Amino acid sequence: MGENVRTGRCVVAVDGPSGSGKSTVSRRLAAGLGARYLDTGAMYRAITFAVLRSGVDPADAESVAKVAGEVDLRIGTDPQGYGVTVDGVTVDAEIRGAEVTAAVSAVAAVPAVRTLLVARQREMIANAGRIVIEGRDIGSVVAPDADLKVYLTASEAARAQRRSAEDAADVAATAADLARRDRLDSTRKADPLQQSADAVVLDTTELGIDEVVVRLRELLTERGVA
Ligand code: C5P
Repeated sequence: MGENVRTGRCVVAVDGPSGSGKSTVSRRLAAGLGARYLDTGAMYRAITFAVLRSGVDPADAESVAKVAGEVDLRIGTDPQGYGVTVDGVTVDAEIRGAEVTAAVSAVAAVPAVRTLLVARQREMIANAGRIVIEGRDIGSVVAPDADLKVYLTASEAARAQRRSAEDAADVAATAADLARRDRLDSTRKADPLQQSADAVVLDTTELGIDEVVVRLRELLTERGVA
């Protein structure tokens, strides 16, 4: 039995581009482990919602940082259903809308926003003990000492297909949006999307969600952490 089975701590970092299956895999894995789940993309989206609501230009880094510092952002960690609130108002639907999706990469590129959210995310990891946390910089920046780091990927066509089905949107428009966000997220200076050298890479183009979850459970067992 590994050290972590005794202490009960288990941190799984799941990174990858949009549409790679991160959210579904992470939620199922967390539910199966009886762990908490944190969607860090929802946090960047919530700050973006606040920025747009206040009429600030997402490209104006200084004003964006000011809004981020003042907003009261809360997010749950229940894998069966978590809520996001901004200044006490539920914004679960709004943060998935086209306006927020179009502006989120610009807001997430502001270093002050990242510093603030990374600190919040680390605090939530420390309080949870057992948690599956998904995003773009989890294995590289937020939780470099995670018990398991996973990098999920899939072909551009598969990712666009999945996202457009989820959003009931046009595939070509979704593909263009994904390509734009991937480029911005991978090339920004502050904590870009990257594959940690010690991450397990899984291509979900041909793999079903359940197969990925089973593989991750095997890896955790092999490592003695769950
Ligand atoms: O995962 P999701 O697509 O909801 O993330 C929305 C955006 O939030 C990403 O395109 C990226 O710009 C940003 N993000 C980030 N770092 C994370 C999670 C999300 O920069 N850890």
